[in-house]
Amino acid sequence: MSDTTATRGAPGDGGAADEHDLMERVVNLCKRRGFIFPSAEIYGGFRSTYDYGPLGVLMLRNVKDRWWRSMVQMRDDVVGIDAAILSSPKIWEASGHLANFTDPLVDCRNCHERWRADKIEGICPNCGSGDLTEPRAFNLMFKTYAGPVEEDATVAYLRPETAQGMFVNFLQVLQTTRKKPPFGIAQVGKSFRNEITPQNFVFRTREFEQMEMEYFVPPDEGQRWFEYWLGERMAWYLDLGIPADRLRLRHHDPDELSHYSAGTADVEFLFPWGWDELEGIANRTDYDLKAHAALSGEKLEYFDQASGERYVPYVIEPAAGATRTMMAFLIAAFDEDEVGGEKRALLRLDPRLAPYQVAVLPLSKNDTLVPVAREVLGLLQPLWSVDFDVTQSIGRRYRRQDEVGTPLCVTVDFESLEDRAVTVRERDTTEQVRVPIDGLVEELRGRLPA
Ligand code: ATP
Repeated sequence: MSDTTATRGAPGDGGAADEHDLMERVVNLCKRRGFIFPSAEIYGGFRSTYDYGPLGVLMLRNVKDRWWRSMVQMRDDVVGIDAAILSSPKIWEASGHLANFTDPLVDCRNCHERWRADKIEGICPNCGSGDLTEPRAFNLMFKTYAGPVEEDATVAYLRPETAQGMFVNFLQVLQTTRKKPPFGIAQVGKSFRNEITPQNFVFRTREFEQMEMEYFVPPDEGQRWFEYWLGERMAWYLDLGIPADRLRLRHHDPDELSHYSAGTADVEFLFPWGWDELEGIANRTDYDLKAHAALSGEKLEYFDQASGERYVPYVIEPAAGATRTMMAFLIAAFDEDEVGGEKRALLRLDPRLAPYQVAVLPLSKNDTLVPVAREVLGLLQPLWSVDFDVTQSIGRRYRRQDEVGTPLCVTVDFESLEDRAVTVRERDTTEQVRVPIDGLVEELRGRLPA
């Protein structure tokens, strides 16, 4: 039986105040329920760094796993790697990051705040003054020292993107896997950028996670594969529950393109502050392989033994942010409705992304119920991420699970002791059905996509 009334309406139709409210509610929920905490709060925090709590770590893993599954596991033309975060500075020399990975920095002469010039239109967002310094190039890479002596020879950088790991391992992957273009190398991992103005919760932070893939193709097939990956990547977000009216593809104008790019498009999400980037998809041509070949002296090319052809592949790169994407999924899933005349907040997360797929709830802490509930927990734990909660009234526990997006609750009550059956309750509709414990796994398999 369902007893719900939606109140929030279509996303994005609520005006600026509603959207501001939405952002605040999501941030608040994240903190209150253990998704994302400001880092080092006991020391007053550390600006714009965040820690992922017990529920956040589960959801972030799910986001990364779904990406890996679609980009690597479900394909025979893409392999994965996990490259070092600290590596040779030559990588950043060749890629152009040392010279060019900069943002234009301005100081406000009035209040002394610092800003990214391209984001503020000549006015200090803090005090409103127009008295700003001339922009100067600020390199976003974090510099550190590898080894005990702080001298130039040991300077190293925390990687500002994962992509270069794929280019510098191109030959090794080619030789060890015997792949031939078109084929891809994928990686998920942390990247670091000394952002001038980290902001909007985990949208822009100095430490974040990326999910990137470099797809190597014959040069004359670049455009075709670029378009192919635009389609694949849009489909991934839609499949996992981003509503079509909050997602769009924005092609870069020719004057917006990076120097190496023959075409770039951003997957954008309608955030509470407007449209903004989730992922960039670019045809990077042969720029990176040629740059690394020039500096390293290695031939980074593909030799086709059958045809005797030798060429430097073009690269199509879908580059997404895991932490930023998780935030978009949270915003898209947040909803409020009424159940039996009572307001409830819920996350309508796709079950594949939810921290827990199932919660097992004994109706009371009664000594006879808990062992049966534990037996049910033991049945489900090997298959799904399962919460077990015995405290508070059953109604309050359902609300808690709704609020963190758990799609199914399994309740063990006194009747269960007699009939060996449990109640399965659905998050979105609140519908309940009675299911024999013997058939529970099969029932849940039918409701939870693989
Ligand atoms: P922006 O213009 O927003 O600074 P970018 O275009 O430089 O980002 P890319 O270098 O294309 O970003 O990085 C690919 C993806 O990595 C981005 O689409 C985003 O999802 C993620 N990302 C980049 N920088 C950050 C950051 N500071 N915090 C969180 N995620 C980030």
